[in-house]
Amino acid sequence: MVALTATPRYLRVAVPSPLYRHFDYLPPTGADLAGVSPGVRVRVPFGARDVIAVLLDTPSETEVSASRLKRAKRILDSAPVVPHDMMALARWAADYYRHPIGEVVQALLPTALRLDRPAQASRPFVWRLTPAGSAVDPASLKRAPRQAALLAHLQHSPDGCLADVLADVSPHWQATTRLLIERGWVEKVRGDFVPGPVDDPLPQGIALNSAQRNAAQSVISAAGTFRSFLLHGVTGSGKTEVYMEVIADALQRGKQALVLVPEIGLTPQLLSRFRIRFGAVTAFHSGLTDGERLDAWLAARDGRARIVIGTRSAVFVPLQVPGVIVVDEEHDASFKQQDGFRYSARDLAVVRAQRSNIPVLLGSATPSLESIQNVRQERYTQLELPERAGSARHPKLRLLDVRSRPLDEGLSDLLLDAVARHLKGGGQVLLFLNRRGYAPTLMCHACGHVLQCKRCDARMTLHGTQRLQCHHCGAERNLPSRCEQCGAAEFDRFGQGTERIEAALNRLFPDAGIARIDRDTTRRKGTMEALLDGVHRGKHRIVVGTQMLAKGHDFPNVTLVGILDADQGLFGVDFRASERMAQLIVQVAGRAGRAERPGEVLIQTYHPDHPLLTHLVREGYASFADAALRDRQLAGLPPFAAMALL
Ligand code: ADP
Ligand code: ZN
Repeated sequence: MVALTATPRYLRVAVPSPLYRHFDYLPPTGADLAGVSPGVRVRVPFGARDVIAVLLDTPSETEVSASRLKRAKRILDSAPVVPHDMMALARWAADYYRHPIGEVVQALLPTALRLDRPAQASRPFVWRLTPAGSAVDPASLKRAPRQAALLAHLQHSPDGCLADVLADVSPHWQATTRLLIERGWVEKVRGDFVPGPVDDPLPQGIALNSAQRNAAQSVISAAGTFRSFLLHGVTGSGKTEVYMEVIADALQRGKQALVLVPEIGLTPQLLSRFRIRFGAVTAFHSGLTDGERLDAWLAARDGRARIVIGTRSAVFVPLQVPGVIVVDEEHDASFKQQDGFRYSARDLAVVRAQRSNIPVLLGSATPSLESIQNVRQERYTQLELPERAGSARHPKLRLLDVRSRPLDEGLSDLLLDAVARHLKGGGQVLLFLNRRGYAPTLMCHACGHVLQCKRCDARMTLHGTQRLQCHHCGAERNLPSRCEQCGAAEFDRFGQGTERIEAALNRLFPDAGIARIDRDTTRRKGTMEALLDGVHRGKHRIVVGTQMLAKGHDFPNVTLVGILDADQGLFGVDFRASERMAQLIVQVAGRAGRAERPGEVLIQTYHPDHPLLTHLVREGYASFADAALRDRQLAGLPPFAAMALL
């Protein structure tokens, strides 16, 4: 007898290991391979221990000699945990990024599924109304406004609410729900993961302006086909409203939407904006517990979660019926995974859209040069939002030529005058310097020896007065009492870091309440929020910070932004440094000031005639991007060439 299809005989699996290959096993004793499909998990012996592998294939032949084949212990799942399309994406990514398939597949699996446990939702707690609670009119609770607000919210959520939804409604939700439970109006139950209903018809968003309507319509009319769009619109031009319009259309067609945002962009404000419009969204990010991540992952895979909003790793969340993918702030560096399995979530989002035949919408105020180049080559379609949506105006950018000006710790007299003027006018001031610590260079006063890292030869940065830190590899040591070369005991401190600027500002503006926001001052949980809160309440009138301050926060009372060292971007060692600097300048310019207080942006440089800077300041980001792309082409750099780490 001749078999029409080859009989599956072996299990070919991806094993969590850094080896560039798959592994073949004999099936567990007594297992029938007929109904076993790729994407199920398999427990296999690997070296001295057992590991959880994922099935790639069930071949009828293997090159491994029968004597060396080991037997798999157990097939964990009766149906694939990782759906077919995501297995295919994993294979594609392993090939494209030249990364071991086992590690790529691991990146796809939520941590909870990397163990020998069933792929089931953890059934989190849900708070919902009792019949008695449904009958209470929240308006009658005048004395208890918090209870009234929560009760009203629950009355609009017939399936109950998860903790994170309630936390959005009120910071005091825990105490308040306890009171509501005591009154017999609310109960806490273990539910299935219920992302909440999607109303039919969906509530309307705010009326879009014509540019927003055109942009949304372009994406909507591409439904069901693969097309990439680049939505270029300054901060505040209403990109998020366009995303929501496009998503609403996907939901109406019964599809799901995936939204990727930068790490720092996934704020409670953003989530609640989506929740207000759509009732329920599922967040997927590293702040969740393993159980919560699993719940979100399964809900997305099984089509219960209609909108998934997440950071980089959410690009691997499976969707049962994908309708559209949105990548907000597509230029953001946090979309790149920088160690282990290195990938670009933005690029994978485009590949995924292509493989699923759906549109993908990339948005930014400052698109990456790669995406602009893709528009020119007609791989992406550009959509524009030229105006700010509200009445806010854009601040003016101006270059400060600091050549032969008096400098106090790197602050020019021109900039200091402007700071004084804005403080006097009641404004706040934001100063950027992309360098932590006190001083980036320490040199022996006698022999000129520069203190270097012993592990990697980078210069050591002085933190405080005694501590040396390598910003390259993280090595730390104390400042030596004598020069390692000549024995002299005096060091000169060259250059400025944020600590040094902070000290100078405290001396020059002792009443301004200086805040410093960088990785060193925000390491502990909650410190960032406390500092930002102080800025919003006006306690801090001057803020000095690194780029971490540029994203995701609005500073309506900031009227002056100072860029202390634009030349760092122009002459940085990374070929993307100038692109990053331009993006930083435009992003902060967009977050400062509002209608009644238009802002001013001053940029200190020794090279006021540098073409990249003058393009940016006189003609804007698009013109800068033109010039920068010409430079890249001449130099043979990406996007005109591909680069790989070997
Ligand atoms: P972006 O995502 O581009 O930064 P947003 O979508 O957050 O912009 O919009 C900025 C502000 O303008 C928000 O407060 C938003 O509610 C408002 N807005 C957006 N579009 C409109 C519109 N068509 N009419 C009125 N207000 C709008
Ligand atoms: Zn080092």
